[in-house]
Amino acid sequence: MTNKLAILPGDGIGIEIVREAIKVIDVLQKEFGFDVEYEIAPIGGAGYDAAGEPLPEATLKLARDADAVLLGAVGGPQYDDLPRDKRPERGLLAIREALALFSNLRPAILYAQLADASTLKPEVVSGLDIMIVRELTGGIYFGQPRGIRTLDDGQREGFNTLVYSESEIERIARSAFETAMKRDKKLCSVDKANVLEVSELWREVVERVGLAYPEVELSHMYVDNAAMQLVRAPKQFDVMVTGNMFGDILSDAAAMLTGSIGMLPSASLDENGKGMYEPIHGSAPDIAGQDIANPLATILSVAMMLRHSLDEANLADVIEKAVGKVLDQGLRTADIETEGSTVIGTAAMGDAVVAAMQEMGS
Ligand code: NAD
Repeated sequence: MTNKLAILPGDGIGIEIVREAIKVIDVLQKEFGFDVEYEIAPIGGAGYDAAGEPLPEATLKLARDADAVLLGAVGGPQYDDLPRDKRPERGLLAIREALALFSNLRPAILYAQLADASTLKPEVVSGLDIMIVRELTGGIYFGQPRGIRTLDDGQREGFNTLVYSESEIERIARSAFETAMKRDKKLCSVDKANVLEVSELWREVVERVGLAYPEVELSHMYVDNAAMQLVRAPKQFDVMVTGNMFGDILSDAAAMLTGSIGMLPSASLDENGKGMYEPIHGSAPDIAGQDIANPLATILSVAMMLRHSLDEANLADVIEKAVGKVLDQGLRTADIETEGSTVIGTAAMGDAVVAAMQEMGS
């Protein structure tokens, strides 16, 4: 069956890095038997320029009809003065919402070749490979009621609601257990059950879902301890699952352990495993158009897409091994430069990955 992809480069370096990811997809098609069709559409500022909306209707239709979506990044200073509902970032939130992408998979992988890039000691982080599964469409970022109100004494009060239903917890827990089954079968659920009733229910439901996954070793950790453990001994973790706000914070901390946001992909999945794949970084307007952006996070997003939405784990391996080989050769974009390495540009990095893949194919 032909895999249909929607490719949405977005703004800034999004355009350059997605161009390199497309080279990789083309090689998979031509030389590795990957049956694929793709169409490219604007989102973010590019969507606004093309159709007056950060998520043009035609782009959303393409994404809905596709088996998976690859996104670059959105945003740029030229759009900062637009009304809130026209801003590029709104396009991103709107597409996540429209496609019901509730499960956010954020790996933090530190390639041994880049151990020096981390601010932590190499022995603490070398070989790090964690997957954080963050609930993306619920919790305190969406809970009602919310707002700022004036109290009787005249002062104002801000309030938000942290709420999770059993079904919301169940589906993110299932997504996390499924993810753990594809990895080392170790899952740590992060909550604040010593203080929050929501977390009490979270823990109970995660335990219940876990009964269907007896092979997965489940543990629980309070979020404050998880934050400490992530910087003390991060290699103790395999898969972590948590709610929207805790996940937002912990996944950024975990990403920073690796020292390079130009290397990290992410996935956002719906209930059927359809997903949107994107680098964790933004559109980096400060370096856009200069052929210096690191395309590897986007190329690795293609690998995640193959593994999590398209059931092509072997092809995902090809990409990930090719990236490893390129790093072994000492090739680096400027953001991941290490001592004695050779710094190359965005396009040359894409070409190097393609060449490494071709070597494997031949
Ligand atoms: P950013 O991630 O774009 O950049 C942060 C820093 O990292 C910059 O110095 C940048 O040059 C560098 N960087 C990022 N990606 C890189 C890469 N692939 N290779 C080399 N260096 C890289 O974050 P920011 O500067 O806070 O935001 C810039 C714009 O991106 C804003 O408009 C913001 O709203 C948007 N943004 C979009 C997304 C998204 O599309 N998912 C995420 C975050 C920020």
